[in-house]
Amino acid sequence: MNRHTDGPDGCDRFDIRMTDLTGGPEAMHRATLQAVERVLASGKYVLDREVVAFERLWAEACGVRFGIGVGNGMDAITIGLLAQGIGPGDEVIVPAMTAFATVLAVIRSGATPVLADIDPVTTLLSLESAQRMMSRRTRAVVVVHLYGRMAPMSEWVAFCHEHGVALIEDGAQAHLARLRMGVAGSFGVVGAFSFYPTKNLGAIGDAGMLVTDDESIVQKARQWRDYGRSCASAAGLHVLAGLNSRLDELQAALLSARLPWLEGFNAARRAVAAAYRENLNNPWITLPSASEEPEAHVHHQFVVTAVNREALRFHLRSRGIQTGIHYALPLHWQPACPVHSRYDPSGLFHAEQHAHRCLSLPCHPFLTMEAVERVIQAVNDFVLPAETEP
Ligand SMILES: *Cc1c(COP(=O)(O)O)cnc(C)c1O
Repeated sequence: MNRHTDGPDGCDRFDIRMTDLTGGPEAMHRATLQAVERVLASGKYVLDREVVAFERLWAEACGVRFGIGVGNGMDAITIGLLAQGIGPGDEVIVPAMTAFATVLAVIRSGATPVLADIDPVTTLLSLESAQRMMSRRTRAVVVVHLYGRMAPMSEWVAFCHEHGVALIEDGAQAHLARLRMGVAGSFGVVGAFSFYPTKNLGAIGDAGMLVTDDESIVQKARQWRDYGRSCASAAGLHVLAGLNSRLDELQAALLSARLPWLEGFNAARRAVAAAYRENLNNPWITLPSASEEPEAHVHHQFVVTAVNREALRFHLRSRGIQTGIHYALPLHWQPACPVHSRYDPSGLFHAEQHAHRCLSLPCHPFLTMEAVERVIQAVNDFVLPAETEP
Protein backbone atom coordinates (compact mmCIF):
# COMPACT_ATOMS: atom_id res chain seq x y z
CA MET A 1 0.00 0.00 0.00
CA ASN A 2 1.36 3.40 -0.91
CA ARG A 3 0.16 5.83 1.70
CA HIS A 4 1.62 8.81 -0.11
CA THR A 5 -0.60 8.58 -3.15
CA ASP A 6 -3.10 11.34 -3.52
CA GLY A 7 -6.76 10.51 -3.44
CA PRO A 8 -9.15 11.80 -6.08
CA ASP A 9 -9.68 15.00 -4.07
CA GLY A 10 -5.96 15.70 -3.98
CA CYS A 11 -5.72 14.81 -0.28
CA ASP A 12 -3.44 12.19 1.18
CA ARG A 13 -5.05 8.86 1.80
CA PHE A 14 -4.94 8.20 5.52
CA ASP A 15 -6.00 5.02 7.24
CA ILE A 16 -6.33 6.74 10.61
CA ARG A 17 -8.32 9.92 10.22
CA MET A 18 -9.21 12.89 12.43
CA THR A 19 -12.95 12.28 12.21
CA ASP A 20 -15.35 9.53 11.19
CA LEU A 21 -18.68 11.18 10.53
CA THR A 22 -20.39 8.09 9.15
CA GLY A 23 -19.34 5.91 12.09
CA GLY A 24 -21.35 5.18 15.20
CA PRO A 25 -23.90 2.64 16.34
CA GLU A 26 -26.55 1.27 14.01
CA ALA A 27 -29.29 2.29 16.47
CA MET A 28 -28.22 5.94 16.22
CA HIS A 29 -28.39 5.83 12.43
CA ARG A 30 -31.86 4.32 12.61
CA ALA A 31 -32.98 7.05 15.03
CA THR A 32 -31.49 9.69 12.70
CA LEU A 33 -33.37 8.30 9.70
CA GLN A 34 -36.63 8.19 11.64
CA ALA A 35 -36.15 11.85 12.56
CA VAL A 36 -35.55 12.75 8.92
CA GLU A 37 -38.67 10.89 7.78
CA ARG A 38 -40.76 12.53 10.49
CA VAL A 39 -39.70 16.01 9.38
CA LEU A 40 -40.17 15.23 5.72
CA ALA A 41 -43.72 14.06 6.37
CA SER A 42 -44.56 17.02 8.63
CA GLY A 43 -44.39 19.66 5.93
CA LYS A 44 -42.79 22.03 8.49
CA TYR A 45 -39.14 22.71 7.80
CA VAL A 46 -37.93 25.83 9.62
CA LEU A 47 -38.45 27.01 13.23
CA ASP A 48 -41.27 24.74 14.24
CA ARG A 49 -41.98 22.08 16.84
CA GLU A 50 -38.75 20.09 16.32
CA VAL A 51 -36.73 23.24 16.99
CA VAL A 52 -38.74 23.96 20.14
CA ALA A 53 -38.26 20.34 21.29
CA PHE A 54 -34.49 20.43 20.76
CA GLU A 55 -34.23 23.87 22.39
CA ARG A 56 -35.83 22.36 25.50
CA LEU A 57 -33.69 19.23 25.44
CA TRP A 58 -30.41 21.07 24.97
CA ALA A 59 -31.18 23.78 27.54
CA GLU A 60 -32.11 21.07 30.05
CA ALA A 61 -28.92 19.12 29.31
CA CYS A 62 -26.94 22.30 30.01
CA GLY A 63 -28.87 23.02 33.19
CA VAL A 64 -30.23 26.29 31.80
CA ARG A 65 -33.83 27.49 31.35
CA PHE A 66 -33.90 28.55 27.70
CA GLY A 67 -32.39 27.56 24.37
CA ILE A 68 -32.66 29.58 21.15
CA GLY A 69 -31.87 27.59 18.02
CA VAL A 70 -29.89 29.51 15.40
CA GLY A 71 -28.13 28.83 12.12
CA ASN A 72 -24.65 28.04 13.45
CA GLY A 73 -22.25 28.46 16.35
CA MET A 74 -20.85 31.76 15.17
CA ASP A 75 -24.31 33.32 15.04
CA ALA A 76 -25.02 31.98 18.54
CA ILE A 77 -22.22 34.24 19.82
CA THR A 78 -23.15 37.21 17.61
CA ILE A 79 -26.82 37.02 18.59
CA GLY A 80 -25.84 36.52 22.23
CA LEU A 81 -24.00 39.86 22.04
CA LEU A 82 -26.65 41.71 20.00
CA ALA A 83 -29.44 40.51 22.30
CA GLN A 84 -27.67 42.28 25.18
CA GLY A 85 -27.37 45.49 23.19
CA ILE A 86 -23.63 45.02 22.64
CA GLY A 87 -22.40 46.48 19.35
CA PRO A 88 -20.55 49.44 17.83
CA GLY A 89 -18.49 51.39 20.36
CA ASP A 90 -18.30 48.45 22.76
CA GLU A 91 -15.33 46.19 23.37
CA VAL A 92 -15.43 42.42 23.74
CA ILE A 93 -12.44 40.44 25.01
CA VAL A 94 -11.59 37.17 23.25
CA PRO A 95 -8.57 34.85 23.44
CA ALA A 96 -6.06 35.18 20.57
CA MET A 97 -6.01 31.37 20.16
CA THR A 98 -9.39 30.01 19.11
CA ALA A 99 -11.43 29.31 15.98
CA PHE A 100 -11.66 32.40 13.77
CA ALA A 101 -15.44 32.17 14.19
CA THR A 102 -15.12 33.38 17.80
CA VAL A 103 -13.65 36.74 16.83
CA LEU A 104 -15.69 36.98 13.63
CA ALA A 105 -18.82 36.69 15.79
CA VAL A 106 -17.67 39.77 17.73
CA ILE A 107 -16.82 41.65 14.52
CA ARG A 108 -20.27 40.84 13.09
CA SER A 109 -21.95 42.31 16.16
CA GLY A 110 -20.22 45.60 15.39
CA ALA A 111 -18.25 45.54 18.64
CA THR A 112 -14.46 45.95 18.71
CA PRO A 113 -12.56 42.73 19.37
CA VAL A 114 -9.93 42.93 22.08
CA LEU A 115 -7.42 40.09 21.92
CA ALA A 116 -5.97 38.68 25.12
CA ASP A 117 -3.26 36.05 25.44
CA ILE A 118 -3.70 32.45 26.56
CA ASP A 119 -2.35 30.74 29.64
CA PRO A 120 0.66 28.70 28.42
CA VAL A 121 -0.23 25.69 30.58
CA THR A 122 -3.97 25.35 29.91
CA THR A 123 -3.96 27.14 26.48
CA LEU A 124 -7.18 28.85 27.65
CA LEU A 125 -7.85 32.60 27.94
CA SER A 126 -5.48 34.14 30.49
CA LEU A 127 -7.09 35.98 33.39
CA GLU A 128 -4.09 38.29 33.82
CA SER A 129 -4.14 39.24 30.16
CA ALA A 130 -7.91 39.84 30.23
CA GLN A 131 -7.40 41.99 33.33
CA ARG A 132 -4.87 44.14 31.44
CA MET A 133 -7.32 44.59 28.57
CA MET A 134 -10.29 45.85 30.60
CA SER A 135 -11.36 49.38 29.69
CA ARG A 136 -14.33 51.71 30.14
CA ARG A 137 -15.76 50.28 26.93
CA THR A 138 -15.50 46.59 27.82
CA ARG A 139 -18.95 44.99 27.79
CA ALA A 140 -18.23 41.26 27.60
CA VAL A 141 -15.62 38.51 27.81
CA VAL A 142 -15.92 35.47 25.55
CA VAL A 143 -14.37 32.52 27.37
CA VAL A 144 -13.67 29.62 25.00
CA HIS A 145 -13.63 26.05 26.34
CA LEU A 146 -10.90 25.27 23.83
CA TYR A 147 -10.46 21.64 22.68
CA GLY A 148 -13.33 20.67 24.99
CA ARG A 149 -11.62 21.70 28.21
CA MET A 150 -13.61 23.92 30.52
CA ALA A 151 -12.08 27.17 31.67
CA PRO A 152 -11.96 27.78 35.45
CA MET A 153 -15.50 29.14 35.66
CA SER A 154 -15.62 30.20 39.30
CA GLU A 155 -12.73 32.57 38.52
CA TRP A 156 -14.38 33.90 35.36
CA VAL A 157 -17.76 34.36 37.02
CA ALA A 158 -16.08 36.34 39.81
CA PHE A 159 -13.98 38.36 37.36
CA CYS A 160 -16.94 39.36 35.18
CA HIS A 161 -19.12 40.09 38.20
CA GLU A 162 -16.45 42.30 39.75
CA HIS A 163 -16.02 44.28 36.50
CA GLY A 164 -19.72 44.40 35.64
CA VAL A 165 -19.27 42.81 32.20
CA ALA A 166 -21.15 39.94 30.55
CA LEU A 167 -19.63 36.48 30.57
CA ILE A 168 -20.18 34.59 27.32
CA GLU A 169 -19.13 30.97 27.01
CA ASP A 170 -18.06 29.67 23.62
CA GLY A 171 -18.96 26.02 24.17
CA ALA A 172 -18.67 24.99 20.50
CA GLN A 173 -16.08 22.35 21.45
CA ALA A 174 -17.37 21.47 24.91
CA HIS A 175 -20.80 19.82 24.70
CA LEU A 176 -21.71 18.55 28.18
CA ALA A 177 -18.29 19.18 29.69
CA ARG A 178 -18.97 19.71 33.39
CA LEU A 179 -17.43 20.98 36.56
CA ARG A 180 -18.88 20.01 39.94
CA MET A 181 -20.50 23.47 39.91
CA GLY A 182 -22.28 23.05 36.58
CA VAL A 183 -22.28 22.23 32.88
CA ALA A 184 -20.50 24.23 30.15
CA GLY A 185 -22.80 27.00 28.95
CA SER A 186 -24.58 27.43 32.30
CA PHE A 187 -22.11 29.86 33.90
CA GLY A 188 -22.28 32.75 31.47
CA VAL A 189 -25.12 35.13 30.71
CA VAL A 190 -25.06 33.29 27.39
CA GLY A 191 -23.64 29.90 26.43
CA ALA A 192 -23.06 29.45 22.68
CA PHE A 193 -22.96 26.09 20.92
CA SER A 194 -22.25 24.86 17.42
CA PHE A 195 -23.54 21.56 16.07
CA TYR A 196 -21.35 21.61 12.98
CA PRO A 197 -20.88 17.99 11.83
CA THR A 198 -17.41 17.53 13.37
CA LYS A 199 -18.35 18.82 16.85
CA ASN A 200 -18.95 16.42 19.75
CA LEU A 201 -22.68 16.63 18.95
CA GLY A 202 -22.98 17.16 15.21
CA ALA A 203 -25.80 17.74 12.72
CA ILE A 204 -25.66 16.92 8.99
CA GLY A 205 -25.25 20.58 8.13
CA ASP A 206 -24.95 23.83 10.04
CA ALA A 207 -26.76 24.32 13.33
CA GLY A 208 -26.24 26.30 16.53
CA MET A 209 -27.88 27.36 19.77
CA LEU A 210 -27.49 29.87 22.53
CA VAL A 211 -28.62 29.00 26.03
CA THR A 212 -29.48 31.48 28.77
CA ASP A 213 -31.46 31.94 31.98
CA ASP A 214 -32.32 35.53 31.09
CA GLU A 215 -35.81 35.95 29.63
CA SER A 216 -35.10 39.35 28.09
CA ILE A 217 -32.22 37.80 26.10
CA VAL A 218 -34.57 35.04 24.89
CA GLN A 219 -37.03 37.54 23.43
CA LYS A 220 -34.32 39.64 21.77
CA ALA A 221 -32.45 36.61 20.43
CA ARG A 222 -35.64 35.24 18.84
CA GLN A 223 -36.08 38.58 17.11
CA TRP A 224 -32.46 38.79 15.96
CA ARG A 225 -32.50 35.32 14.38
CA ASP A 226 -35.65 36.01 12.34
CA TYR A 227 -35.28 39.36 10.49
CA GLY A 228 -35.85 41.31 13.69
CA ARG A 229 -39.49 40.30 13.63
CA SER A 230 -41.45 41.01 16.79
CA CYS A 231 -42.67 37.66 18.09
CA ALA A 232 -45.60 39.31 19.88
CA SER A 233 -47.00 40.92 16.79
CA ALA A 234 -49.05 39.06 14.23
CA ALA A 235 -48.84 42.09 11.95
CA GLY A 236 -45.31 41.33 10.80
CA LEU A 237 -43.66 44.14 12.69
CA HIS A 238 -39.86 44.32 12.33
CA VAL A 239 -38.49 46.02 15.40
CA LEU A 240 -34.80 45.35 14.60
CA ALA A 241 -32.72 45.14 11.43
CA GLY A 242 -32.13 41.48 12.25
CA LEU A 243 -30.42 38.48 10.71
CA ASN A 244 -31.66 35.36 9.03
CA SER A 245 -30.19 32.70 11.29
CA ARG A 246 -32.91 30.14 11.87
CA LEU A 247 -32.44 26.53 12.89
CA ASP A 248 -34.21 24.13 10.57
CA GLU A 249 -36.47 21.29 11.64
CA LEU A 250 -34.35 18.59 10.04
CA GLN A 251 -31.19 19.45 11.99
CA ALA A 252 -33.14 19.97 15.21
CA ALA A 253 -34.93 16.63 14.90
CA LEU A 254 -31.82 14.59 14.26
CA LEU A 255 -29.88 16.41 16.97
CA SER A 256 -32.63 15.44 19.44
CA ALA A 257 -32.38 11.86 18.15
CA ARG A 258 -28.59 11.75 18.54
CA LEU A 259 -28.38 13.48 21.92
CA PRO A 260 -28.80 10.26 23.98
CA TRP A 261 -25.47 9.01 22.58
CA LEU A 262 -23.47 12.13 23.44
CA GLU A 263 -22.37 11.16 26.96
CA GLY A 264 -21.14 7.79 25.68
CA PHE A 265 -19.23 9.44 22.84
CA ASN A 266 -17.61 11.87 25.28
CA ALA A 267 -16.59 8.90 27.45
CA ALA A 268 -15.07 7.21 24.37
CA ARG A 269 -13.10 10.40 23.62
CA ARG A 270 -11.85 10.42 27.22
CA ALA A 271 -10.70 6.81 26.86
CA VAL A 272 -8.68 7.72 23.73
CA ALA A 273 -7.15 10.70 25.56
CA ALA A 274 -6.35 8.54 28.60
CA ALA A 275 -4.55 5.98 26.41
CA TYR A 276 -2.51 8.79 24.82
CA ARG A 277 -1.66 10.24 28.22
CA GLU A 278 -0.57 6.92 29.62
CA ASN A 279 1.51 5.77 26.69
CA LEU A 280 2.94 8.75 24.81
CA ASN A 281 6.49 9.20 26.06
CA ASN A 282 8.48 11.01 23.42
CA PRO A 283 10.76 13.63 25.04
CA TRP A 284 10.35 15.99 22.05
CA ILE A 285 6.62 16.13 22.49
CA THR A 286 4.67 17.87 25.25
CA LEU A 287 1.26 16.51 26.22
CA PRO A 288 -1.64 18.85 27.00
CA SER A 289 -2.00 19.55 30.72
CA ALA A 290 -4.82 17.59 32.35
CA SER A 291 -7.88 19.31 33.80
CA GLU A 292 -8.36 18.89 37.55
CA GLU A 293 -11.87 17.47 37.20
CA PRO A 294 -11.97 14.64 34.63
CA GLU A 295 -15.51 15.43 33.44
CA ALA A 296 -14.48 19.03 32.73
CA HIS A 297 -12.82 17.84 29.51
CA VAL A 298 -14.68 16.28 26.58
CA HIS A 299 -11.61 16.07 24.30
CA HIS A 300 -12.94 17.64 21.17
CA GLN A 301 -9.25 17.65 20.23
CA PHE A 302 -6.15 16.06 21.76
CA VAL A 303 -3.47 18.66 21.11
CA VAL A 304 0.22 18.02 21.73
CA THR A 305 3.00 20.53 21.17
CA ALA A 306 6.34 19.96 19.48
CA VAL A 307 9.06 22.43 18.56
CA ASN A 308 9.50 20.64 15.26
CA ARG A 309 5.80 20.26 14.61
CA GLU A 310 6.02 20.03 10.81
CA ALA A 311 8.52 17.15 10.97
CA LEU A 312 6.25 15.30 13.38
CA ARG A 313 3.27 15.90 11.15
CA PHE A 314 5.15 14.61 8.11
CA HIS A 315 6.32 11.53 10.05
CA LEU A 316 2.75 10.69 11.11
CA ARG A 317 1.49 11.20 7.57
CA SER A 318 4.08 8.69 6.34
CA ARG A 319 2.48 6.18 8.73
CA GLY A 320 -0.99 6.89 7.33
CA ILE A 321 -2.05 9.03 10.29
CA GLN A 322 -3.94 12.25 9.68
CA THR A 323 -3.36 15.16 12.05
CA GLY A 324 -4.78 18.65 12.38
CA ILE A 325 -3.56 22.08 13.43
CA HIS A 326 -5.83 24.08 15.74
CA TYR A 327 -4.88 26.76 15.00
CA ALA A 328 -2.11 27.65 12.56
CA LEU A 329 -2.36 31.38 13.21
CA PRO A 330 -3.26 33.36 16.31
CA LEU A 331 -6.20 35.65 15.55
CA HIS A 332 -4.13 38.84 15.33
CA TRP A 333 -2.13 37.37 12.42
CA GLN A 334 -5.25 36.67 10.38
CA PRO A 335 -5.50 39.11 7.46
CA ALA A 336 -9.21 39.65 8.14
CA CYS A 337 -8.70 40.70 11.76
CA PRO A 338 -9.71 44.37 11.78
CA VAL A 339 -7.01 46.96 12.21
CA HIS A 340 -8.93 48.68 14.99
CA SER A 341 -8.76 45.56 17.21
CA ARG A 342 -6.86 46.05 20.46
CA TYR A 343 -4.12 43.60 21.49
CA ASP A 344 -2.56 42.98 24.88
CA PRO A 345 0.33 45.51 25.06
CA SER A 346 2.39 42.84 26.84
CA GLY A 347 2.11 40.80 23.65
CA LEU A 348 0.30 37.65 22.62
CA PHE A 349 3.38 35.49 22.91
CA HIS A 350 1.79 32.31 24.23
CA ALA A 351 -0.87 32.27 21.52
CA GLU A 352 1.85 32.80 18.90
CA GLN A 353 4.05 30.05 20.29
CA HIS A 354 1.14 27.62 20.54
CA ALA A 355 0.23 28.28 16.89
CA HIS A 356 3.76 27.26 15.85
CA ARG A 357 3.86 24.11 17.95
CA CYS A 358 0.37 22.62 18.25
CA LEU A 359 -0.60 19.37 16.58
CA SER A 360 -3.95 17.62 17.01
CA LEU A 361 -3.85 13.81 17.03
CA PRO A 362 -6.84 11.72 15.94
CA CYS A 363 -9.34 11.69 18.84
CA HIS A 364 -12.93 10.71 18.13
CA PRO A 365 -15.43 8.23 19.59
CA PHE A 366 -15.08 5.61 16.85
CA LEU A 367 -11.28 5.22 16.88
CA THR A 368 -10.41 1.59 17.57
CA MET A 369 -7.89 0.84 20.31
CA GLU A 370 -5.75 -0.75 17.61
CA ALA A 371 -5.69 2.60 15.79
CA VAL A 372 -4.88 4.42 19.03
CA GLU A 373 -1.97 2.04 19.62
CA ARG A 374 -0.67 2.71 16.12
CA VAL A 375 -0.76 6.46 16.75
CA ILE A 376 1.05 5.99 20.07
CA GLN A 377 3.73 3.81 18.44
CA ALA A 378 4.21 6.28 15.60
CA VAL A 379 4.49 9.30 17.90
CA ASN A 380 6.92 7.50 20.22
CA ASP A 381 9.06 6.45 17.22
CA PHE A 382 9.45 10.05 16.07
CA VAL A 383 13.04 11.33 16.20
CA LEU A 384 14.32 14.76 15.28
CA PRO A 385 17.33 15.52 13.15
CA ALA A 386 20.48 15.02 15.28
CA GLU A 387 21.30 18.70 15.82
CA THR A 388 18.03 19.53 17.59
CA GLU A 389 17.78 19.47 21.37
CA PRO A 390 14.53 18.40 23.07
C1 LIG B 1 -16.82 25.56 15.48
C2 LIG B 1 -16.56 26.68 16.37
C3 LIG B 1 -17.27 27.89 16.29
C4 LIG B 1 -18.22 28.20 15.16
O1 LIG B 1 -19.22 27.31 14.96
P1 LIG B 1 -19.93 27.27 13.51
O2 LIG B 1 -21.13 26.42 13.73
O3 LIG B 1 -18.96 26.66 12.56
O4 LIG B 1 -20.28 28.67 13.14
C5 LIG B 1 -17.03 28.87 17.23
N1 LIG B 1 -16.12 28.69 18.19
C6 LIG B 1 -15.40 27.56 18.30
C7 LIG B 1 -14.42 27.44 19.42
C8 LIG B 1 -15.57 26.53 17.39
O5 LIG B 1 -14.84 25.42 17.50
